[in-house]
Amino acid sequence: MKYLITGGAGFIGSNFIKYMLDKYPNDYFVCLDLLTYASSLESLEEVMDNPNFKFVLGDICDKDLVDNLFESEQFDYVINFAAESHVDRSYIYPDLFYKTNVEGTKTLLEAAHKYGVLRFHQVSTDEVYGTLSLEEEKSFTELSETNPTTVYSKSKELADKCVLDYFINKNLNVTISRCTNNYGIYQHPEKLIPRVVKMASLGEDITVYGNGLNVRDWLYVVDHCRAIDLIIHKGNSGEIYNIAAKNELPNIYMINKILKHLNLDNVTLTYTNFRPNDDIRYSLNCDKIKQELGWNVESDFEESLEEVINWYKNHLDWIERILDK
Ligand code: NAD
Repeated sequence: MKYLITGGAGFIGSNFIKYMLDKYPNDYFVCLDLLTYASSLESLEEVMDNPNFKFVLGDICDKDLVDNLFESEQFDYVINFAAESHVDRSYIYPDLFYKTNVEGTKTLLEAAHKYGVLRFHQVSTDEVYGTLSLEEEKSFTELSETNPTTVYSKSKELADKCVLDYFINKNLNVTISRCTNNYGIYQHPEKLIPRVVKMASLGEDITVYGNGLNVRDWLYVVDHCRAIDLIIHKGNSGEIYNIAAKNELPNIYMINKILKHLNLDNVTLTYTNFRPNDDIRYSLNCDKIKQELGWNVESDFEESLEEVINWYKNHLDWIERILDK
């Protein structure tokens, strides 16, 4: 089987490529990535020489490049991780977010349809459902209405709609997954866990948005990769699958957990303004993927979190390099 993995030099995409090459050593994987500030080719170093892996530098919005690539490679599966993924930046560069996340997805869908892939999978986010309050008990199901609040989540919601449109109107075989916040290695230090490890390790004050009580649900990236593997091979076409591990934590608890793991309890926390439209709580119900596909979390939260924190602590040089890009 031949897979196109877009955004594979980013955090989740690079973890997914390594997971898949390990699990399916006879399959062939092409990574298409523009190598934006968020990417790290170092994350793919160990697979670069694998004869079943090829890296292609390019933009998912580049219609000619995408068309030529699909024509020459004849992919069976397309998994679209490529995106502008940082909410804060989405207010500064809204056009870029709509271009990459919506136009880029449409370009891939068009080629997937033209060249008849077996399955197009879109990696989406829990953020398309919008926010819950801290008091609400419920979690969003796949049938919940979407109600995105940020430029990032609005662009991802539009991309999901494009994917479903190709299913309904063009009969393309598609699936969508919506996951919660991932943690794992090679995540850009603009995101909470690597950012806090870096700041704490270098003795910098740690900034906390608002009162720190916003709740995020943490999913280990390898559990996420296993879920996508199941969805692309066993999920039903036209379906959306939520993916979460039910590790819901207020951000300030996560920060304190990291500091405790690092044995740094006396770090100064500086509270800053709330981020614009900072969603209060995300929570997903994932009965569907559990019941239909038999997926379940396999990692132990405390153990995998500790491993990830230690990895960043031991890779501060990588953090510096990616920030210098
Ligand atoms: P990331 O920012 O780490 O990586 C994105 C990758 O996409 C980078 O390698 C970048 O170079 C590439 N890219 C950006 N624009 C491109 C373009 N025009 N053409 C080709 N490549 C391009 O993102 P991530 O955290 O790995 O997220 C991957 C996907 O998962 C995204 O679609 C994101 O919306 C979704 N998601 C992420 C999380 C999370 O916790 N990280 C949670 C929910 C959903």
